[in-house]
Amino acid sequence: MKVLVINAGSSSIKYQLFDMPDRVVLARGMVARIGEDHAELTHHDGRTSHESAVNAADHEQAMAIILRTLVDPDVGVLTDGAEIGAVGHRVVHGGEEFTGSVLIDDRVIASLEKYADLAPLHNPPNLVGIRASRHTLPHARQVACFDTAFHATIPEVAFLYALPYEIYETYRVRRYGFHGTSHRYVARRAATLLGRDKNDLNLITCHLGNGCSITAVRGGRSVDTSMGLTPLEGVVMGTRSGDFDPAILFYLADKGYDLDTLNEMCNKKSGLLGISGQSNDMRNLEALAQNGDRRARLAIDIFCYRIKKYIGAYAAVLDTLDAVVFTGGIGENAVNVREQICTGLTQIGVQVDPVRNRAVVGGEERISPDAARVAVWVISTNEEAAIAADTYELAARSEP
Ligand code: ADP
Repeated sequence: MKVLVINAGSSSIKYQLFDMPDRVVLARGMVARIGEDHAELTHHDGRTSHESAVNAADHEQAMAIILRTLVDPDVGVLTDGAEIGAVGHRVVHGGEEFTGSVLIDDRVIASLEKYADLAPLHNPPNLVGIRASRHTLPHARQVACFDTAFHATIPEVAFLYALPYEIYETYRVRRYGFHGTSHRYVARRAATLLGRDKNDLNLITCHLGNGCSITAVRGGRSVDTSMGLTPLEGVVMGTRSGDFDPAILFYLADKGYDLDTLNEMCNKKSGLLGISGQSNDMRNLEALAQNGDRRARLAIDIFCYRIKKYIGAYAAVLDTLDAVVFTGGIGENAVNVREQICTGLTQIGVQVDPVRNRAVVGGEERISPDAARVAVWVISTNEEAAIAADTYELAARSEP
């Protein structure tokens, strides 16, 4: 079965076409700048990349372009769109209702509409992508895979905020967590790579990309995670602040900042960008810091310090810790950041071998010394493959 994986953002749709169950990627690409005068298509057919300007006024047109490209006689990989048996959609927020991936029907769509206000930046474009896909590929089964689902196992003691209980009862304000597909994927890979049963393994998984989150995984299940009601809470990120005293918002409101400005500040102007004043990109910051830029150095130091604190906290949550996993653009590639985070954690058994660490960029490799109590691994994440696997499984099960 051919499975198309769709990640629809506000102005882009990323896609990957898999041949399942072998997980072979047949093609991948993206339509960017949807709604602008000149949208862009980037398509990789397994051999070469192709770029072209396209007319994509909305997501519906972008989906039609993707389908046309996949069956194009020159760059396509299919003879007919009907070969696509199922489409897997990344959906950011599934609320408390969705604890795993689901086949999409009208009832699921109605629920997703309900969660739009919990993830206003993400769920509405995800939904637009689902609607466009149902319309463009009506014969295919459609599956939703939620960023929140893996964290559905977090216990009440970890997911409740210490606000009046009615706030939870009335508005379902609680910790949901995100990046679940990535945390689940690397946790499973870690069990395989360590040759251990996932049910007997305690892990801390660190997804460090533009967004960053840390998860405590006990016996294959998420038991705590750093992101909360929204992806703003937790460690320092590219442009998001992570944890801070919420009274700062009241203080700034008193100084004349309005809600929209504060929202924009915390989500778009804080984090690595806010501290450095220059960039949200770790590569740029490392280059600046190397040239003596104090604020870039400070941004990296605060980033590493906060992650180290979370690792310490989650080691306490888990009682025993078997492995720490780094993934995401920073986790897979930023060797200095990994070393800095793990320095001084020997009391909980975490250390990296500097020579091994320096040699690992992406892939799946252990970077701790052989004798270390806790294994530290770099494992490249593959959210699309995890979505394709869930989609294939649900679609195959629902075959008449
Ligand atoms: P997203 O969350 O948007 O998927 P990624 O997982 O691709 O983002 O992570 C992007 C981050 O990874 C950026 O901060 C980027 O600078 C960082 N990164 C990528 N490659 C390297 C590298 N070689 N060294 C340091 N940081 C890197």
